[in-house]
Amino acid sequence: ANIEPDEWKTTVCRFCGTGCGILVGVKDGKVIATKGDPENRSNKGLNCIKGYYIGKILFGKDRLTKPLIREDKSKKGTREGFREATWEEALDLVAKKLKEAYDADPKSVAFYGSGQQSIMEGYASVKLWKAGLLSNNIDPNARHCMASAVAGFMTTFQSDEPMGSYRDLDETEVYVTWGANMAEMHPVLYSRLTAHKLKDSGIKHYDLTTRYSRTSELADVVMVFRPQTDLAIANAICNYLIQNNLYDQKFVNEHTQFKAGTENLGHTFDDNYEATEVGKVADKDWVITFEEFKTRVSEYTLEKAAQMSGVPAKDIEALAKEFADPDKKIMSLWTMGVNQHTRGTWMNNLIYNVHLLSGKIAKPGSGPFSLTGQPSACGTAREVGVFSHRLPADLVVKNPEHRRYSELIWNLPQGYLNPIENPGMHTVKMFRELGNGKIKFLWSMSNNWGQSNPKLNRSRGIDANGKGVIDGFIVVSDVYPNRSTEMADVVFPAAMWVEREGQFGNAERRTSIFEKCVEPPGEAKWDLWAIVQVAKRVLEGKMIGDKPAFDVLFGMVWDSKKNDLLEDEHEVNSRLWKEYRLFTNPHEHLNKEAQELGAKLKMKAKQLAPYDEYLKQHGICWPVRNVNGKWLETNWRYSYGKQEDGFDQYGVEEFGHKGKYNDLDFYKSADHKPAILFRPFEEAAEVPDQEYPLWLCTGRVLEHWHSGTMTRRVPELHKAFPEALCEINAEDAKALGIKTGDMVNVISRRGEVKVKATTTGRGNPPKGLIYVPFFAEETLINLVTLDCYCPISKQTDFKKCAVKIVKA
Ligand code: SF4
Repeated sequence: ANIEPDEWKTTVCRFCGTGCGILVGVKDGKVIATKGDPENRSNKGLNCIKGYYIGKILFGKDRLTKPLIREDKSKKGTREGFREATWEEALDLVAKKLKEAYDADPKSVAFYGSGQQSIMEGYASVKLWKAGLLSNNIDPNARHCMASAVAGFMTTFQSDEPMGSYRDLDETEVYVTWGANMAEMHPVLYSRLTAHKLKDSGIKHYDLTTRYSRTSELADVVMVFRPQTDLAIANAICNYLIQNNLYDQKFVNEHTQFKAGTENLGHTFDDNYEATEVGKVADKDWVITFEEFKTRVSEYTLEKAAQMSGVPAKDIEALAKEFADPDKKIMSLWTMGVNQHTRGTWMNNLIYNVHLLSGKIAKPGSGPFSLTGQPSACGTAREVGVFSHRLPADLVVKNPEHRRYSELIWNLPQGYLNPIENPGMHTVKMFRELGNGKIKFLWSMSNNWGQSNPKLNRSRGIDANGKGVIDGFIVVSDVYPNRSTEMADVVFPAAMWVEREGQFGNAERRTSIFEKCVEPPGEAKWDLWAIVQVAKRVLEGKMIGDKPAFDVLFGMVWDSKKNDLLEDEHEVNSRLWKEYRLFTNPHEHLNKEAQELGAKLKMKAKQLAPYDEYLKQHGICWPVRNVNGKWLETNWRYSYGKQEDGFDQYGVEEFGHKGKYNDLDFYKSADHKPAILFRPFEEAAEVPDQEYPLWLCTGRVLEHWHSGTMTRRVPELHKAFPEALCEINAEDAKALGIKTGDMVNVISRRGEVKVKATTTGRGNPPKGLIYVPFFAEETLINLVTLDCYCPISKQTDFKKCAVKIVKA
């Protein structure tokens, strides 16, 4: 029989921030094959094991295909007690509950979005919540993933713009991974790294990590440090460069300024770790002199950093010497080990410090590269403003000019976006307030917070007697039953991946469109359809000026004859995109006020190309330039000069370029100078002690995406890694009488879980540390973790808390 697909469609993988292109083979309305897309410049045809099996995620036997309404409230917290409903009934109920809660207290409603929503789904959520309901209680799960990277970019550069590209991986001479197990979390990028490294024995890899991982295997120097002391190591490198006069003085003088902003540091926890802050931070960073910075950082000698971290001083010195070599190209790569950190923003700042002091930044093969975790953490969560404090295109809620600019694009009267609550609840606060009954309505989309949230007892509302106590009304849009649908009052069955058309924005600023390939099963629907349907009901009767609010916000995608969203999904996406791209293209506005305000706010032409161009090119990295009728991408931000295509990097001169040709211009930083920030060491929120003597680190494994809802339903992936394992150091295991295969209880001050131990896992933790992945819903390791977070970014630290283990 002929099993060739009828057609191949262009799509993107949804299982990590790499954003690999995937071609999907469709036959008779069914996905029958997938393969890497050679035309997507992010992966050039390569996929990892999750990408190769991605087609099978569509076919789990228990797909949600009908809306569900909870009938038996006593069964909340379980998968029982639901009845099937029509969409009409479920949407009406959700709108009624949302309105009731909102009318009683506008602060009591919340939306929990995701870096796995498509860009336009995120954009529509933001419009409904921030413009429709005037509520900033909307935050994405990217708060747990990328918030520290954003705060790092903003505090150092005053702009959330990743500056390098994946092409750096092919050109660098030294890789430094700081808390990034790329071999499992960004496998295609790691393949690119190893391919380049194996070509030339002179290329080095330094792996800074808290446990030996698969990424450590090919590294030249593995620096296993005591959790949290990465702060000391990075400071020691800065100090070494300065004390030995090995920093790039010309670059530092021309392109940087020095700042500090840390006083009165100290923990503020109570005995139950309930406090919301982990230290006092000055409101603002202030400018200091180079000499002041030098004095402050001088305490971080190699010896001190070695003593604190356990990494030999000679290894720290060797890495510092790489940065000191003016001819070396160095690329730093980091992800959750740095971002999920009670001082995640500081660690991002410190990596930038090292690159700014050495002048190794924004050049081909040389620069700091923040890897994203989710497929559209950049595109959705950050760029369209799903964070509680943001608006689209880097704008922030608290700035009146930013709100005004958004009002102009959304056709809202001046002063309309006067926020009810500014800046709104971040994720941890949102779930703490759900747990204590202050949030009365929560809608979550494309995430499984009932498993992935930290300190799960709190967000699952489990009291000391093990009973669920959440009484807020919860709506969950998802594709399979999971630990979050258990908490729901209404479940919306969602169209998954290529059952609708969407867009993802990956770690190198590439925006790629994925085509709709097949129809969703049963009555499952596109999330954007559900957002607009709820908006229609909730905004009924509300006016903006003399027009119905719904028409102002969503009229462009509504078919008034059919009283439904436009049927053509491509058209819906195109129309929303057309509006969204106005945010970064002030010159396209007819309105003079918008043009002038856009120019004043330095709104950069990011997404300049028309919607279809992103599909045609299989993804484009913004800023996009039109040169002689061609839409060109930008590989290196802030660099002013010629790209390989012979054309200048786009648009730096528009904003008053101060440097020379073939130079850099950090155009959004004050005086065009990013900050080298003094960020000292601060101890972790919870440190092992006699009672809880081990560090617990959590994370992912190669085969499973986040909470495993999709990948565990792919037989090949499930068989490859069927259960969570607790990795333990062999000496620790021996001392505790534990052997590989034994069940152990992992116990913290917050909870206890049972899991199988191994001393021969993929990773090899040092003495005193265990590692447990969070993909297994039966293990639920987050019952044990701590929900303390970086006080600047509000990102949670999943990488360290104190536990003990006992043989079960
Ligand atoms: Fe690429 Fe990541 Fe998907 Fe693997 S999981 S195919 S690396 S996007």
